[in-house]
Amino acid sequence: MPPPNPCAKTPKPTSAVAAKPPSKVRHGKAQAEFVANTRRAIDADLQFFHKNDWSQIRHSKRRGTALTSTKKLRADNFYVKDIAAWVPHLIIPGYLPSCARCGKKEHIDMSKCSWVENPKLLHGTHTHRHLDTEHCYCTLCSGSFMGHHDKTLHADANEIAGILNYRLSKGFAVDEELHSFIVNHGTVTTAAIHQRLRHMQADNWLNDCAFCHRAVMANCVKDRHSHVILGTNQQRLDRLLVALPKLTATEKRIESMRVELKSAAWKETFLPKWPLSMAMWNLPESSEEKETGMN
Ligand SMILES: [Zn+2]
Repeated sequence: MPPPNPCAKTPKPTSAVAAKPPSKVRHGKAQAEFVANTRRAIDADLQFFHKNDWSQIRHSKRRGTALTSTKKLRADNFYVKDIAAWVPHLIIPGYLPSCARCGKKEHIDMSKCSWVENPKLLHGTHTHRHLDTEHCYCTLCSGSFMGHHDKTLHADANEIAGILNYRLSKGFAVDEELHSFIVNHGTVTTAAIHQRLRHMQADNWLNDCAFCHRAVMANCVKDRHSHVILGTNQQRLDRLLVALPKLTATEKRIESMRVELKSAAWKETFLPKWPLSMAMWNLPESSEEKETGMN
C-alpha cells in the first residue's frame, strides 16, 4: 500500500443546490383573486384596454356609490387595490418591446408571453396600486424578460414616453403623481417630504375608515362568511345550534313517546330478520330450529 501523499489536495465538500424558496406574496386572498380575474379578462379580450384605463383598473366602482342603495357593499370594496396592467403591445399600436439582452425587436414572440409571478407595488400619493406586466419571450436569446425591464424602457423611450411615466425600482414603483410631488419639492428636505406623504396617506386612510363605519352603520356592508372562522376555511358549529323551546311535562312525555315510536319503526324496517341473518353468515341453525323444521 503506497504511503499517503501529504501534499494531496482535500476535495471540497460538494453542497447541494438549495431550491429557490417561493417568493413572498405581498397581497391577500381577495387581491390575488382580483389580479387573477383581471389577467383572465385581458387574455380573453384583445380589446380590453379599449374600454378600461390600463393604469387604473378598478376593483369596484361601488366605493363612491350612495349608501341608500339596496345592493350591499362587500368588505373587499374597502381594501382591494386597483391594478395598473402594463401590456404594451395591447396598449400602443404596432409596438413590440426590445429584448433586454440583445436589444432587438424582430425576435420577440408575443404568443409565448406569460404573466409575471407577482405584480410590483406601485406607490402613489394617497394609496398604492399593483403594477402587473407580462414576461416577453425572445426566440434569439431563448429567454424572457419583463415587460417593464429597465433596458427595454431605455431602448424604447421614444415610443413609450408619455404613456408609461412611472419611476421603476427594484421591488416597487412610483406613479407619476407621487414622482412629480417628490421632484417638485426638491428644495425641501427628504424628511419633510416623507412627513407630508405620511400625513396625506393618513388622511386618506381615515377618510376610508370613516366611510366604512358609515356604511356599516347604514347596514350597507354584506356580512361575509359569518359561519367561517376568520382567516381559515374552518366552519363554525354555532350555526348548527338552535335554541330549543321550553316544554311542559306533558309535551316532554309526548316527545319521548314520539322518539320511541320512531326508533321502533326504524328497527322494524331496517334490521334484518333473525333467520335471514343466520343464512347470510352461513351459520348452522340451532338444534331446536332443525327439529322444528323437520316436523
Ligand atoms: Zn433577445
